[in-house]
Amino acid sequence: MKDKQIEKLIKAETARQKSVINLIPSENYVSKDVLTALGSIFDNKYAEGYPTKRYYGGQKYTDELELLCQDRARKAFRLSKDLWHVNVQPHSGSPANLSVYLGLVPLGGKIMGMTLTAGGHLTHGQKVSITGKAWQQVPYGVDPKTEVLDYVALKELAVKEKPALIVAGFTAYPQMVDFKKFREIADACGAFLMVDMSHFAGLVAGGVYNSPFEYADVVTTTTHKTLRGPRSAIVFSRKDKKIGEKNITELLDKAVFPGLQGGPHLGQIAGVAVALKEAATPAFKQYAKQVKKNATALADELTRLGWHVVSGGTNSHLVLVDTWMDGKGIAGKEAEARLEKNGIICNKNTIPAEKRSPFDPSGIRLGSPAETTRGKKEKDFLKIAQKIDKVLRAK
Ligand SMILES: *Cc1c(COP(=O)(O)O)cnc(C)c1O
Repeated sequence: MKDKQIEKLIKAETARQKSVINLIPSENYVSKDVLTALGSIFDNKYAEGYPTKRYYGGQKYTDELELLCQDRARKAFRLSKDLWHVNVQPHSGSPANLSVYLGLVPLGGKIMGMTLTAGGHLTHGQKVSITGKAWQQVPYGVDPKTEVLDYVALKELAVKEKPALIVAGFTAYPQMVDFKKFREIADACGAFLMVDMSHFAGLVAGGVYNSPFEYADVVTTTTHKTLRGPRSAIVFSRKDKKIGEKNITELLDKAVFPGLQGGPHLGQIAGVAVALKEAATPAFKQYAKQVKKNATALADELTRLGWHVVSGGTNSHLVLVDTWMDGKGIAGKEAEARLEKNGIICNKNTIPAEKRSPFDPSGIRLGSPAETTRGKKEKDFLKIAQKIDKVLRAK
């Protein structure tokens, strides 16, 4: 590189990434091919609009690229072209979710979403996000005793509040979500069901997590978490759903462009296309299986060592640990800092029925995808659990 300053930073960050154990469940390491596509000359091109309906000339290859990416998305999640429309233009997960509300829910309408403290995302209607200012969140959480979703309580809430849309799929929920139950809840109050599979999309592609596609009207996902692609997002929508005379697919496309965004990032779309092809391979299925096995090994060992693993374990890539344990242990912020000093990167996190603050919560969130991509197996995760235990217990 001619720019030595940036080159130096890239080298330093490369060395940092290599030197740490990365347990952040929303991070991963993409292939060289993904990076090559992401950093390609497709980034030079403007392509406002959609394939064959653009506002600029010179779209011969961009149209081919975007359509191929859409097809690969359907293939990775085993979807039929007759039923599922795909939009690969959202620049990231937050604008993808925002576009769904913009397309389907009148401003000021009700969106039923999980609170941040219970494991929801900011864009599920949290007040600090535009999604909680332009729309009204009907908040829900998990059962404080079992620390898992209480579908009976959710149904009562939905019938009472009558939200226009229900969001399922979370940021810090270690267990499997029952999308069939969410469908019944949505039907009971006449709401759209949107599943945000940002965190576990790679596990769905790999066949080790419930697929939301049988039940959801709309599925959103980031592409850079367990799915192991570049930072971007996808909105999937059912072709047979309408609001009045309008197909929701049309409303959602309009919400992404021109509703929220200008031109698509074609380098990202090229990178996503590469990642989606990788996600349809047997090797990716193997990775997804191992992600789950490794998270289970981590959760089981931490439990054996005396830590309170929220919801009793994991059925995904994610492990939420209550390190505070009502004052018997150590707070999340200090746990995160101590682990970082010892080469383990994670993030502090609230736990269900949080009694501390979001800035210094009771727990930490761990995940297995990044280190699984680097080839780690159960025996390695046992050692990681033991190291975590040692670091957190040190006087
Ligand atoms: C990460 C995440 C998002 C947002 O993605 P960004 O790309 O960071 O905007 C949205 N929803 C869920 C559930 C997520 O985990």
